[in-house]
Amino acid sequence: MGVKTLMYKADTIRIGGKGLVRSVTLGGDASIAVQTMWKQPLRENTLAETVRKIAELEQLGCDILRFAVPDAPSAEAFVKLTRITPMPLVADIHFDYRLALRCMDGDAAKIRINPGNIGTEERVKAVIQKAQDTGTVLRIGVNTGSLPADLRNRMEEEMHAGREADEARAAALVEGACREAAFFEKHGFKQYLVSMKASSVRETVLANELFAQKSSVPLHLGVTEAGPLVSGIVKSTLAFSKLFEHNIGSTIRVSLSDTMENELIAAREILMECGKRQGGIRLVSCPRCGRNGFDVHGFVERWQRRLFAEEKDITVAVMGCVVNGPGEGKFADIGITGADNMVLLFKRGVIVQRIDVQGLSDSERNAAVDAAFEKELQSL
Ligand code: SF4
Repeated sequence: MGVKTLMYKADTIRIGGKGLVRSVTLGGDASIAVQTMWKQPLRENTLAETVRKIAELEQLGCDILRFAVPDAPSAEAFVKLTRITPMPLVADIHFDYRLALRCMDGDAAKIRINPGNIGTEERVKAVIQKAQDTGTVLRIGVNTGSLPADLRNRMEEEMHAGREADEARAAALVEGACREAAFFEKHGFKQYLVSMKASSVRETVLANELFAQKSSVPLHLGVTEAGPLVSGIVKSTLAFSKLFEHNIGSTIRVSLSDTMENELIAAREILMECGKRQGGIRLVSCPRCGRNGFDVHGFVERWQRRLFAEEKDITVAVMGCVVNGPGEGKFADIGITGADNMVLLFKRGVIVQRIDVQGLSDSERNAAVDAAFEKELQSL
């Protein structure tokens, strides 16, 4: 297997746009949309708090938000939520097609189903029909665990015969996805995406490359069960960057055993470093070493989310010492460093403020530094 054509272009589809819900274009020349997934059960009695949190996720670059909908109470909460937030929401449904039908009574942007575990064709057809009637996009989410028996058997036979496991599994995933796509098309339904997720980087890349050679249906990318913060980001970065080289991927989720915020920050950084997203704040910070005279880690911890929520197109440098601080950060629009009892703020390599922090407690020092930094930041 391997990609023969260099660049792919997916079809364009639009999700959202119903009621209050923002419309997001996927595929074509649209930018790659970022998703994360809510990590708690969705319940009606916490909807106000959920809406507040969604607004924060939006500031961190969340374009689409997915919720697991495993039961009737979460479906009811989902329907209500779609009417009180502009965020395009996706209901993630397994097994019970009636939950998918109920979620489409609200302003759902998208329903993710795995046709392999929804049951009979009649049930999948009912979901397709309601999606058609309500203008809801569907995502076919395929995984090796729920492939039809003939594909699973063929995959195992190929592996016994010596075919590499990643290749055999990727081929089976693609075949499974193509069958489901053919079923959708047979019923005249075109507003759908496909995802084929695996926990192996290579299998993820092979499956998506192979699918992109066969179809222009937009792809949702993700390495599933990618692991905790560091390993999950490494795997997602490797898989996405390889696929982005061929313009494969219309929407992404960085799956982490970590917070939604970190999933969004990781996605943002991957897109920026791969040249798929322009603008926004670029945060440059030193790793810190024995020369440090400024608490880089503490400052970054306090400021990272706030900075990423800013709508400025600037570089921010956070450096541990004056030896390298203003010098290494001279291309930064704004930077901060320190020495002894002095914290220095600089703009494009020129020191603009010295803050004397001698004798201050940790909280007093942080408050003084943050206030000064905020003022300089807002002046940009
Ligand atoms: Fe060390 Fe200073 Fe470089 Fe940070 S900027 S890594 S503290 S030498």
